[in-house]
Amino acid sequence: MPDILKTIEARDPVEKEFHQAVHEVIESVKPVLDRNPEYRHSAILERITEPERVIMFRVPWMDDQGMAHVNRGFRIEMNSSIGPYKGGLRFHPSVNLSILKFLAFEQVFKNALTTLSMGGGKGGSDFDPKGKSDNEVMRFCQSFMAELFRHIGPNTDIPAGDIGVGAREIGFLFGMYKKLRNEFTGVLTGKSLGWGGSLVRPEATGYGSVYFAAEMLATKEDNIEGKTCLVSGSGNVAQYTVEKLLDMGGKVVTLSDSSGFIYDEEGIDRDKLDYVKRLKNLRRGRIQEYIDKYSAAEYTEADSTLDHNPLWNHPADCAFPSATQNEINGKDADNLIRNGVKLVCEGANMPCTPEAIDRFLDQKLLYAPGKAANAGGVAVSGLEMAQNSMRLNWTREEVDERLQIIMKSIHQTCLDASAEYGDPGNYFIGANIAGFVKVVNAMLDQGLV
Ligand code: NDP
Repeated sequence: MPDILKTIEARDPVEKEFHQAVHEVIESVKPVLDRNPEYRHSAILERITEPERVIMFRVPWMDDQGMAHVNRGFRIEMNSSIGPYKGGLRFHPSVNLSILKFLAFEQVFKNALTTLSMGGGKGGSDFDPKGKSDNEVMRFCQSFMAELFRHIGPNTDIPAGDIGVGAREIGFLFGMYKKLRNEFTGVLTGKSLGWGGSLVRPEATGYGSVYFAAEMLATKEDNIEGKTCLVSGSGNVAQYTVEKLLDMGGKVVTLSDSSGFIYDEEGIDRDKLDYVKRLKNLRRGRIQEYIDKYSAAEYTEADSTLDHNPLWNHPADCAFPSATQNEINGKDADNLIRNGVKLVCEGANMPCTPEAIDRFLDQKLLYAPGKAANAGGVAVSGLEMAQNSMRLNWTREEVDERLQIIMKSIHQTCLDASAEYGDPGNYFIGANIAGFVKVVNAMLDQGLV
């Protein structure tokens, strides 16, 4: 195999997260390349790792004191072989080309697994919405869209939310797109219900992740009932992961944000979850405030000098990392295994480092990679696009049922691919291979473009 990784590393040496995501996929698909020499002849790896288009732009905006600021905006249009580019926008100070290229690359395979016709993309900005007023966020979103609108459209590229981009930001972005284009169209997903959104879209990633976990457990004739679960994050994905775990009889004992985490041995019940939703979605507060209300819980501040994250060092059956990339390292993986965890389901994108994944696979844990387990969000975004095209709204039950069918189908696809390539039950290999094969076959059909 031409050492594509070395080429990529030499070309963009600082893009560590992108190298990590590419490495994971390329290692997994080696047997596919051996079986299909035509992939190499058509430089499929070189093509699939190079974005079709990268858009980078200046985003000037004014704060409430009249002071001007400039952030950097991005859109990575990674691959459109099976449909228009689709993927979220992330607003977070850590955003750079490497993080967005890794997310866009993962998105290509994730979208392929959903069975819907969606290519892969990702975008965002190093703007930090935390601590900004609604008016500041609106001015930023308007300025961001004043450039982005040239590059997106309902049949070209359909952005959605991600970290730091929720219903408020999607509203401001959509409003500006509509004004500039003078058309009301399904160009963004994650819209509010009253003007084109889909029921169950807010819940979809978290619910889908738990549906996937339940499918994995069912292969061992087990289920979520009575399982103690560690969940990280306290945003969209984490909140609805907790909600579905509660529906299925699980007990959740942790939640976090970038400042620290809470451990509630008694379990986060529905009332406590409602409190967290209000705290995070309305007051935009910090998870630390949880212990002011529920004093039996403990709060631990984040400490970047530690070689592990103590959140992952509690007795539990299942772990649902749902905050951000690389939040579980090798040491955390050892702690999880020592504490009895038998299932790790990635709600976030690439939350486990390669060392952590190796430990889980060595120990034959039920380990679900994000591109399979968190695909429920983009799947319901696809359903939102379908409803927008038909100018119809499906009921909650209808969307939820479709989501469950899609998650079951992704689970089965991963199992089938892992068995076909000699490692049955390895969801990591299965997801990478199944997504890859679907995309590269479409690329081959469409010629050298
Ligand atoms: P939100 O912005 O709603 O929540 C993110 C949560 O993660 C917050 O609690 C945030 O804390 C925490 N967090 C963010 N960055 C860090 C960090 N560097 N260290 C520690 N904690 C951090 O985002 P989502 O819930 O939408 O996204 C969470 C993950 O799920 C991401 O990896 C995203 O890519 C992935 N995902 C999301 C989908 C969706 O539909 N929303 C779909 C598929 C994947 P704080 O408030 O302090 O920033």
